[in-house]
Amino acid sequence: MLDRVLQEIRARQHFVVTSHARPDGDAIGSALACAQILRRMGKHADVVMHDGVPRIYQNLPFADRVLQSVVAPPSDAAILLECDSVKRTALEGLDDRFLISIDHHVSGRPFAHVNWIDPHAVATAEMVFRLAREAGVKFSPEIATCLYTALMTDTGSFMFQGTNENTFALARELVLAGADPAHCARGIYFAHSLAKIRLLGEALRNLQVEGHVGYFWVTRTQMERCAALEEDCEGLVNYVLSIGGVEVAAFFRELPDGRYRVSLRSKGKLDVARVAENFGGGGHECASGCSVEGPLAEAVRAVILQIGRGPSVQ
Ligand code: 5GP
Repeated sequence: MLDRVLQEIRARQHFVVTSHARPDGDAIGSALACAQILRRMGKHADVVMHDGVPRIYQNLPFADRVLQSVVAPPSDAAILLECDSVKRTALEGLDDRFLISIDHHVSGRPFAHVNWIDPHAVATAEMVFRLAREAGVKFSPEIATCLYTALMTDTGSFMFQGTNENTFALARELVLAGADPAHCARGIYFAHSLAKIRLLGEALRNLQVEGHVGYFWVTRTQMERCAALEEDCEGLVNYVLSIGGVEVAAFFRELPDGRYRVSLRSKGKLDVARVAENFGGGGHECASGCSVEGPLAEAVRAVILQIGRGPSVQ
């Protein structure tokens, strides 16, 4: 499938590169790297994100060139990273384009003209790396920095299930190409906003542990009290997962329409992608997300019930 992706890229000139709404490190880092790779192939590439670039990723190379828009600018084709549908980009105007999907989620679905889905890849960054290598593109320090940041964040700093010798081999290649691990880590893990840490305090006050399931939530009022942005919620769920004895962690964020955005994490015994899929979401065995109907007590009950029913990872 990689051959086909390259063939379709070579046949076209103008690209839009995008990823899902509320982008994480793999979405941003892979998109920035992909656009640089396309430019090195002599193509024109615009990175477009419905929600722009979250603050902690704004120092990545070329992040300042990302276009925040609800409509995709004109192009011959669009490359969608980490998406299981056009809808997940939240962008308008993509439906009649030639679409190339590159995704590493187990819940990945073939919706584009070309669908390169590899759930064995530890991050989409790994696939973008392979694309560049196959295209014969030389890795600049800027490309390496974007891909290393994507890899580091999507593997939970090389700690999540799925991290293996290939992950470290890839990280080594990226460091050799000019990525600075300490610099990349500092920009992400030692650069939180004060609002995020205050919000964590609010969430911890709501912490509940029932058997092997831990969860907490934040309401809109709490977010406003902390002056927290949506992006300040990224990663909060990991604090729940860090509790010994907790196998599955959930974080609930109240949405303006009264629904709840849910982040799910597993230490590996239970497949949370399947739990999220029950609510129309998706992700990985150990990290997934979805939205569920409120009120809070109902949302929590529904998710905990599905976790209880959820299949174990084989
Ligand atoms: P997070 O909890 O950080 O928002 O998401 C964890 C993982 O699940 C990420 O890989 C993300 O792409 C995926 N994910 C989160 N929400 C959704 C969703 O609504 N649909 C799908 N397909 N994947 C999701």
